[in-house]
Amino acid sequence: MTQGLTAQPAIVALGGNVGDSRQIFTAALGALEHTPGLTLLAQSAWYETAPVGPPQANYLNACVLLQSALSPWELLTELQSLETRFGRRRRERWGPRTLDLDLILFGQTVMTEERLTLPHPRLTERDFVLAPLLEIAPDWVDPRNGKSLGEYLGALTHSTILRRIVPSA
Ligand code: ATP
Ligand code: MG
Ligand code: MG
Repeated sequence: MTQGLTAQPAIVALGGNVGDSRQIFTAALGALEHTPGLTLLAQSAWYETAPVGPPQANYLNACVLLQSALSPWELLTELQSLETRFGRRRRERWGPRTLDLDLILFGQTVMTEERLTLPHPRLTERDFVLAPLLEIAPDWVDPRNGKSLGEYLGALTHSTILRRIVPSA
């Protein structure tokens, strides 16, 4: 069921390290923009980051701000079908992938379900999500405890960010 008039701001994190990630991100953002019920409001710069998990190529990461008339579950379904369309194959956990689309925040929604946990369960540990997110949602406050993104980023001792890339227009 769609949420009709009560469209909500939503943050999606993009990640990928197989294929031409810049081209894949551009195509995925184009597809998101054309999805009924979604409006793309802002996008961060792109970040080249060192991989977490098994040894593999560096990642490209970014975050986008959407306005969503879809419910959180409907939005996740759209994201997962886009991952599949762009060639994602689920193999080992945190292994190489063409495109990972994680739902990081959905308005003030807090939920803990296996299929969908909000805010994203590993948001606070990841500079490759927090840094791009700060660019597009600097005033966001964690609905669970009132903490800011800057507080979370400042508390991290491990950096994965290698390079910030401004996508060409
Ligand atoms: P991580 O979750 O650590 O970033 P990942 O993105 O590689 O790892 P996936 O294989 O993309 O993990 O997703 C694993 C499962 O996580 C999916 O089946 C999905 O239903 C579930 N999930 C729970 N909460 C979320 C969320 N906020 N965003 C995306 N997937 C989620
Ligand atoms: Mg992920
Ligand atoms: Mg994922």
